Amino acid sequence: MHNSKGVSRQPIVLVVDDDMALRLLIVETLLEDNLAVEEAEDGVEALELFQRISPDLVLMDVKMPRMDGFTACAEMRKLPNGIDTAIVLVTGLDDIASILRAFDAGATDFMTKPVNWPLLSHRVRYLLRAGEAFRNLRQSEQRLSIAQKIAKLGNWDWGFDKDTVYCSDQMCVLCGLAPVDGRFSHEMFLQCVHPDDNEAVRATVKNALDEKKPYRLEYRIQLADGSTRIIHEQAEVEHDSNGAPVSMHGTVQDVSERRQAEEKIRFLAYYDALTGLPNRLLFTKYVEQALFAAMRAKSKVALLYIGVDRFKRINDTLGHKAGDELLKMIASSLASSVRRSDIFGKFVLAKEPEFILSRLTGDEFSILLTGIFKEESISYVARRILEMLQEPISVGGQEMNISCSIGISIYPGDTEDVEALLKNADVAMAYAKQSGGNTFKFFAHDMNDRAIERLNLEIDLKKALERDEFVLFYQPQIDLYSGKISGLEALIRWQHPERGLIAPQQFISIAEESGLIIPIGAWVLNEACRQACVWHQAGLAQIRMAVNISSHQFRQGGLVTMVKQALDDSGLSSSMLELELTESCIMQDIEATIITLVLLKELGVTLSVDDFGTGYSSMNYLKRFPLDTLKIDRSFVMDITTDPNDAAIITAIIALAGSLGLKTIAEGVETLEQLQFMRQHLCDEIQGFFISKPMPADEVERFLVPGMTLC
Ligand code: C2E
Ligand code: MG
Ligand code: MG
Repeated sequence: MHNSKGVSRQPIVLVVDDDMALRLLIVETLLEDNLAVEEAEDGVEALELFQRISPDLVLMDVKMPRMDGFTACAEMRKLPNGIDTAIVLVTGLDDIASILRAFDAGATDFMTKPVNWPLLSHRVRYLLRAGEAFRNLRQSEQRLSIAQKIAKLGNWDWGFDKDTVYCSDQMCVLCGLAPVDGRFSHEMFLQCVHPDDNEAVRATVKNALDEKKPYRLEYRIQLADGSTRIIHEQAEVEHDSNGAPVSMHGTVQDVSERRQAEEKIRFLAYYDALTGLPNRLLFTKYVEQALFAAMRAKSKVALLYIGVDRFKRINDTLGHKAGDELLKMIASSLASSVRRSDIFGKFVLAKEPEFILSRLTGDEFSILLTGIFKEESISYVARRILEMLQEPISVGGQEMNISCSIGISIYPGDTEDVEALLKNADVAMAYAKQSGGNTFKFFAHDMNDRAIERLNLEIDLKKALERDEFVLFYQPQIDLYSGKISGLEALIRWQHPERGLIAPQQFISIAEESGLIIPIGAWVLNEACRQACVWHQAGLAQIRMAVNISSHQFRQGGLVTMVKQALDDSGLSSSMLELELTESCIMQDIEATIITLVLLKELGVTLSVDDFGTGYSSMNYLKRFPLDTLKIDRSFVMDITTDPNDAAIITAIIALAGSLGLKTIAEGVETLEQLQFMRQHLCDEIQGFFISKPMPADEVERFLVPGMTLC
């Protein structure tokens, strides 16, 4: 025997009889059999003992004072420990009515008086063993039920002969069933299946029976409160020896939470969380399908790329929360403007066009129009969008006017492939923005090739930073007195995935116009400082790192902070950083320039004037600027040995620098003659192909051997 904790103990028999002699005889017999025995003389005492000692078997007389055996038995069955204890009623009344009463009271068995003494012990042992088997069965059922509850798993058995379905408790809970005795008919079960799934369930069951195959199926259960639950069911058919189906067994599991989580993941992967619109990924899939359909139907597909004009500024003024609100309003306004465009009746000849609206990035949306045969209908939609967005919008209690720019590309015509269609529309949108915004442009026929090329680059440039496509090359600068390397100029290159290595002249101006120069410039500054520090720490020559600063960067507030940050982050000593500013840059807005230059000098960096001689420099201003170096532009160096004018300009610049206490560095020195000229005229440093072209970091190291002489 096992107690509730599973520890085995001697079985306890409770003997209840008001006849003391008989009671003693029974007790003696059982004690001889090595059983633990307790006694009670009536029902009341028996009940009290029963609760306390939890016997494994009760042998109880029926006729007793205070409480008879029937009542005591019925009361014991109501107790928590009384469900599966064997209770045997010992009756002198061996009439059928008392036996029936005994069973009604919940007795396990009965014995008649007089007691058959030789059989008593055997009978008791038999009942104890049966009781234990019964308890084990109940325990394992309980374990199964707990496991099913945790796993939200239920099981059922359907017997075909009586068409009864047995359901486990958990199955009843999952399906919201209230069966009588855990049983009901299959037809009754089908009533809890969601009406839309009912047919599928019936068909699957029928098929399993016809084909003699197991099945798996997912369907919804409709609960009484109207909510639904998703059930995963697995079942198989059992056949008799003739192959005729006799029953079916199955399990059901509640997979609602899993499906909801999957649905959420799918949503996050394919939809924009802010507006609930399809994101770029899903949109691209739609476009793919649309192109395929249009190819077969010989119809047109138009892609509208919509950018909100000056959104960044609006967002900055409003704050992000209101900015988000605005984007949501724009999204719904876009949807309703297409819906209300009435292009259906007016322009479309065949089936109605459909549209998909998507949010591609922050302030960029796109619309896919399908089933279109005339281009006028596309212009019509575009015009309608522009009009609708012009109506004042109120966000966060503030009335505001916004506008957008739309680029349109069309299949067939502009391209055959999805990515290109999107990109062309993007290019056309950028063109619409460049044309002042609040307008739409068709790709290609509204644009010339150069504009397309440039805009293409601009679009790629936007992604280049995050895709890590920029690299820095370095060109040595040589001190002409010592012949040793004195510095490196960091020069940016763009490793374009399709076009290869692109030189800065081809993209710096685009970056400047689009504002991208700010993050790109910050990247250059950080990367150059980091690299210089790496070289210094590796014990290579301690030389200066020169970084070009665009005039846009210089004019934009925050340059000083950015430089300080780059120095702090990298750990580079400020005296090792030189900033190159062009002559034309520093000669604008003199007072502001002086302030910035002074602040930069206070950080400890050195300052040089790049491309010196190409712009207009006022001596008065030069005197007031805290500069260190003038970089003589390559255009003068180029012809010094042939053009006396250039030679004269260079000597003048060197003299000027000398009088201002500034150093000189000659750019673009390609020949020995040019080098010698510079040396003769006391130019301090040179930089140019004669020493080396700009090169990637790993090639620079051979120039950084401490003490090495280069010319
Ligand atoms: P820069 O600052 O005047 O840089 C010197 C340019 O002259 C570099 O061109 C360099 O490769 C080239 N060069 C140097 N020595 C010789 C030579 O002996 N012969 C010839 N023919 N050319 C020589 P690169 O790298 O194409 O850069 C062009 C311009 O792009 C730079 O002119 C600079 O204004 C700009 N740039 C380059 N990197 C950056 C950057 O990180 N930020 C900014 N804002 N501008 C940059
Ligand atoms: Mg430079
Ligand atoms: Mg230069």
